[in-house]
Amino acid sequence: MKPRVLILGGGIAGIAAAMKLCAAGARVTLVESRDRLGGRASSFFDAKSGLWLDNCQHVTLGCCDSYLHLCDLLGVSHLIRWDDEQYWVEAGGRTTILKPAHLPAPLHGFPAFLKAKFLNVGEKLRIAAALAQLRFLNRFNHEAQTFASLLDELGQHETERTKFWDPIIISACNLTPKRVSALAAIQVFQEAFLAGAPASRIGIMTVPLGQIYERARSAIVESGGELLLGESVSHFDQTTATLSGGHMLAADAVVCALPFEKASMFADDGLKQLDPRFSGMARMTHSPILGVHLFFDRSVLTLPHAVLVGAETQWLFRKDDSGRVLHAVISAADEWMALDHDAIVQRVLRDLLARFPAAANARLEMARPVKERRATFAFSPGFESLRPATASESGDGPFLAGDYTQTNWPATMEGASRSGLAAALAVLQHRQKGRMRRTQD
Ligand SMILES: Cc1cc2nc3c(=O)[nH]c(=O)nc-3n(C[C@H](O)[C@H](O)[C@H](O)COP(=O)(O)OP(=O)(O)OC[C@H]3O[C@@H](n4cnc5c(N)ncnc54)[C@H](O)[C@@H]3O)c2cc1C
Repeated sequence: MKPRVLILGGGIAGIAAAMKLCAAGARVTLVESRDRLGGRASSFFDAKSGLWLDNCQHVTLGCCDSYLHLCDLLGVSHLIRWDDEQYWVEAGGRTTILKPAHLPAPLHGFPAFLKAKFLNVGEKLRIAAALAQLRFLNRFNHEAQTFASLLDELGQHETERTKFWDPIIISACNLTPKRVSALAAIQVFQEAFLAGAPASRIGIMTVPLGQIYERARSAIVESGGELLLGESVSHFDQTTATLSGGHMLAADAVVCALPFEKASMFADDGLKQLDPRFSGMARMTHSPILGVHLFFDRSVLTLPHAVLVGAETQWLFRKDDSGRVLHAVISAADEWMALDHDAIVQRVLRDLLARFPAAANARLEMARPVKERRATFAFSPGFESLRPATASESGDGPFLAGDYTQTNWPATMEGASRSGLAAALAVLQHRQKGRMRRTQD
């Protein structure tokens, strides 16, 4: 008989679990409190512009194997645009193109780095020496220290921090080097930037994020399962979940793909006392991201994207062919959360105009800031030990999925995909064990 599996939460982790379980012949019921799938990587309809807008630009990297596998399962891989080059733009507009050379890793990035205009010779030498050491560090030995303190040990000066390390780490880890665990930061260099040209290329969806999850809907329904959108879970244990209206759902297994604060809030009290995986969740915290959609009356950005050197706004993405529609991203945006619409727009425009002076001739027709206060978990020193495993020590459920679980990744679509695929595998293994046990009995 087909196993029945309840999946709680329809973000990337829940979707990945559903796709794998449906393919393995399970009958899945996925419960999602919103009226759409995608969770923190999703789109909303903006009545003012009449467009579907992403909550924020989401970037993937060539090294994100599990996320790219999920895109294959969803049949959306062809919708990713790959940018091999990175454009770093300084105040005044001088632009450096970091383009990989046809050389083995980590030398592929070296020729372009040597020519980078935004760094002087001393800065390049110090950065290169640090990168050479980062490549060989056992990152797990550096979990308890911040990346800033590691940069101190590696002899990095303030100028190269502001121009080079900050833009990369703040946008990749969503925390400043002063707050982020060195474990997470080292990983960014070891698995992406130093790992070769294919690993470090930047992938951007060419359609609103919401569109890429449609395939999950049909996969669930076609395999005999159901999708309960707009339904909130208020309690769960190993085999049941109760909805906020009081209706109880039962299954052979439960995959909890809720955010950590909800998983910890809605797990059965008895379960929480017995299962140590839940104890760390109460100590986890969030870090915010701000995305700003900008609509101009004429072209202001011809590059596909821009890293803004030395600015508070870390990245700009061109969202249409003409360069009229842009998306600005500010990670680790704690300070920006209290600002109102006009103050946010002013600060972003200041960064934009300083680097693209010609944009002063353009009129901003509309701006739409999106504040995500709970964008990611805060990967500070000590966080790694709080992350729960997929299954309990005995291999039982509820099976936990979500970017915050033990994925070996920071809070990313890759981490979420890994966790969902791992939860699906754990459910199938658990069922296999149960069958074996029954046969032995
Ligand atoms: C602004 C922003 C920018 C980001 N940029 C990037 C990026 O560039 N690259 C990258 O790789 N990652 C990025 N991330 C991180 C990435 O989006 C997340 O790591 C990933 O989407 C997490 O997926 P998840 O399934 O673990 O969690 P979630 O997406 O949080 O999924 C949990 C789901 O559970 C649902 N839910 C909550 N409560 C209930 C309930 N009671 N009952 C039923 N359902 C419930 C939620 O609605 C949600 O759909 C960004 C995140 C944000 C917010």
